[in-house]
Amino acid sequence: MSYIKLDFNAYKHNLEFLAKFTGDISKIMAVLKDNAYGHGIEEISEFACKCGIKRVVVKNNDEALKLYKKFDQTLVLSETDLSNCIVDEKIAYSANSIEQIMLFKKNTNIHLKVDTGMGRNGVSISELDNAFKLIKSKNINLQAIFTHFYAADMVGSDFFVQEKTFLKVKKICQSLAKKYGFSSLLFHSKNSSALLRGTFNDDFARVGIAGYGYVDMHKSFGEFNLKPILSLWAKKICTRELKKGDSVGYSGLFRSKTNMIVSTYDLGYGDGLFRYNGNGTLKIANGKNILGKMSMDSISIEGDEEEICILNDAKNMANFFDTITYEIITKLSPFIKRELVIN
Ligand SMILES: *Cc1c(COP(=O)(O)O)cnc(C)c1O
Repeated sequence: MSYIKLDFNAYKHNLEFLAKFTGDISKIMAVLKDNAYGHGIEEISEFACKCGIKRVVVKNNDEALKLYKKFDQTLVLSETDLSNCIVDEKIAYSANSIEQIMLFKKNTNIHLKVDTGMGRNGVSISELDNAFKLIKSKNINLQAIFTHFYAADMVGSDFFVQEKTFLKVKKICQSLAKKYGFSSLLFHSKNSSALLRGTFNDDFARVGIAGYGYVDMHKSFGEFNLKPILSLWAKKICTRELKKGDSVGYSGLFRSKTNMIVSTYDLGYGDGLFRYNGNGTLKIANGKNILGKMSMDSISIEGDEEEICILNDAKNMANFFDTITYEIITKLSPFIKRELVIN
């Protein structure tokens, strides 16, 4: 059976590296949404706990319920069934609009999202006074104010403009907190690339991709000392000998130029891999080419090793498919067995 290995030491290494930017590991909110970017939410939440992470970020109630007891607080980013929000000191919800604020139950913990330029979720600066008033009148528990950067991975000044805008938001919110009687608001804004780029002056950073060992930033920002924590392994189903001119797989796209040994392994696009269509050269982690079109549950590779590493650095596949590392790892099936490497 194919499986995923998760390397605890690499994860710890990444968090320790990132803690140099936040000052302390407890200031990192580990983003574990979408099954911990495809790694496995239960497994990575164990890793996070062991590393001293106190706060995590997830997508919805389903994900929160899997892990919230392990942490001081779990922030739920994009639950839409807000009439079923969970009122618990360990859970908080992102409030993405005035309409959403109206839906929260009394005493729900919220982090109010402010749109500082991304144009996606969040109340605008001009709506802040209204938002505070509404939150107060509904007896909702406002704990934090946050925003999200839209261009931290790109060269240019947009990022710095947004940083400045958030400083302004902080000032406004601090005075609104006084006006409406909210105490000790917390602030967070930075994702991985923003943290690696800017000055950190918030209470927390929301770190996703860098914890898993990647950053998808413009190459002019240089390399960061991060290690991919996931590797993907497949086992041999069977081996055959090809004669010169024999084909492998759908459409007979691959034809051997010499006699060769080929094996089929138990991993394919049904397991969440991007489907290689047989065109161009796509190498797996062991340096060998994928032969012919990838099948749903299998892949053909030269040789007869019992077990092979398909992927240990998602950058290679991301480059080949002209996408970002986030997408390659997040798509990996939750049904692939996870093996933890801890020592
Ligand atoms: C996914 C997400 C993050 C994490 O971003 P990375 O680039 O993976 O560090 C942070 N904040 C919000 C609001 C997100 O949706």
